[in-house]
Amino acid sequence: MKSPDFHILADKNSYIKMIHPVYPLTKGLSQQIVKNILTEALKYLSLCEEFIPENIIEKYSILPITTRIKGVHFPKTFYHRDRALFSMKVQEAVTFETAVLLSKNNAKTGFTGTAKNFLGDLSERFVKSLPFSLTSAQKKAYSDIQNDLRDKLPMNRLLQGDVGSGKTVVAQMAMLDTVQAGFQVAMMVPTSVLARQHYAKLTEEFSGLDVNVSLLLGDTKDSEKNDLKKKIETGQVDILIGTHALIQENVLFKNLGLAVIDEQHRFGVNQRLCLINKGISPDFLVMTATPIPRTLALTVYGELDISTIDQMPKGRKNVITRTIDDSKRKEMYSFVREELNNNNKAFFVYPLIEESEKVDLKSAQEMYSSELKNEFSDYGVGIIHGKMSSSEKNEIMENFSKGSINVLVSTTVIEVGIDIPQATVMVVEHAERFGLSQLHQLRGRVGRSSRQSYCFLIISDNTGDETKQKIIEFASTTDGFKVADMDLAWRGPGKFFDIQQHGIDEFKFIDLSQDILLISSIRNDISCLLSDDPDMKKYPNLRKEVYAKYGKKLKLIKAI
Ligand code: ADP
Ligand code: MG
Repeated sequence: MKSPDFHILADKNSYIKMIHPVYPLTKGLSQQIVKNILTEALKYLSLCEEFIPENIIEKYSILPITTRIKGVHFPKTFYHRDRALFSMKVQEAVTFETAVLLSKNNAKTGFTGTAKNFLGDLSERFVKSLPFSLTSAQKKAYSDIQNDLRDKLPMNRLLQGDVGSGKTVVAQMAMLDTVQAGFQVAMMVPTSVLARQHYAKLTEEFSGLDVNVSLLLGDTKDSEKNDLKKKIETGQVDILIGTHALIQENVLFKNLGLAVIDEQHRFGVNQRLCLINKGISPDFLVMTATPIPRTLALTVYGELDISTIDQMPKGRKNVITRTIDDSKRKEMYSFVREELNNNNKAFFVYPLIEESEKVDLKSAQEMYSSELKNEFSDYGVGIIHGKMSSSEKNEIMENFSKGSINVLVSTTVIEVGIDIPQATVMVVEHAERFGLSQLHQLRGRVGRSSRQSYCFLIISDNTGDETKQKIIEFASTTDGFKVADMDLAWRGPGKFFDIQQHGIDEFKFIDLSQDILLISSIRNDISCLLSDDPDMKKYPNLRKEVYAKYGKKLKLIKAI
């Protein structure tokens, strides 16, 4: 036993009959010390003033402030403890939602954007030039966005849709409308591979529309960069696509009217703010394929409108997903070979670039050199990973999408956004090393045309049963919303959303994966309360508590 905690039971009755708290400790701190401190502190409990509005206390039958605080430290009974814990959840939701809704009100009165005037025929011409017609879900999302662009209040919209549902086209239309209204557009994406892909797509599809599209990456040459920056500042660039370089470099826009973030779950709140601040209350559109239940989105992001593309383009087939172990490797290789013979392409994804001494995992480099190159020697095999320069990566991606590479060995650099319709096979090695949402993103790299696609998840033999079960469960569904729920339940909301990135601490009592209904009900209560009494004149204690707790963060919450 390491540092056991013991009590002498001389005074048996009193000790045994009590419920004892167990606190998380750190070096130098013992249960007894924390307990003593709290016993001392709780002597002043009567000084605490209730700050939760009476009707909420009644509605949820929560304990009064002194009883609920006591109950989470030294409950008299387990019933007392449970009611106290529930009451603390309500308390937490009340303060948080008040903060969110207050900042929403601030946002409405504090900012005015610019209403954009445009005919919309530029985006119409673009849509007509596409080889497909829009799904009705895409049309609906676009019409939401168009209304926002024309409105004076700045747009703050999340466009969510499963991988491959066609979010880019919708963003492209919004971009053209903005340009037609006389404004610039910035689009920030998490990887240079994706930035180049978008750049190539937009340049090609907008040719003939007299729109200047430019690309800014971290490793763009200095001389080129300076040139480009001047063009951005003088308004010669209509649409700027780039990575974090957009916000890191001192890039100044002449009149940024629309900021777009693709794969927004990869960015933190400060990065989003930086991009928005490149303009004067520009319209803001964020896109993600990691679907978020609406209530949770409202809770985590504050005020945000959501459009969902809940429909796949016509003719798409679900990706067939199989979990396999090492014994099936050869069979899988011969399956892949058949796909290659039919002019299709395949990805092999590994968790590591190179062999590592620390962990016994197959790596991209090792498998590329020692196995896959030989196995598929009749075909072009290429490798791509994060240590390559962006122009090297670009060359490989070009060769994979249009040229001689049929099998692309990769790390997760291709995880998000990559769109290569001829790819029909995704092999993920050491699937147990990836999160479920990540696996879903990887699987989304195939199945982007009317051809049948396949995803093989290789699970290592030494993987625990629970993890194996999760991956098998994952393989049985292709629904991104289900995957997100599974992931949320499995890893917990903290990891799932990286909530700290959003400028909001994790809740202490609320569990976002379970308490969503409670939060959303309290959100309604607070919303009613604020609409009657926007300045909270009747609730000075609640106001005080909210500012004490969230005062510094109110601005962050507001701006999301
Ligand atoms: P994501 O939503 O994952 O970002 P993309 O915007 O990259 O998806 O679109 C995936 C693929 O589907 C692209 O090749 C795109 O050209 C194509 N696509 C988009 N909309 C449609 C549609 N309505 N019909 C057919 N194909 C479409
Ligand atoms: Mg995309």
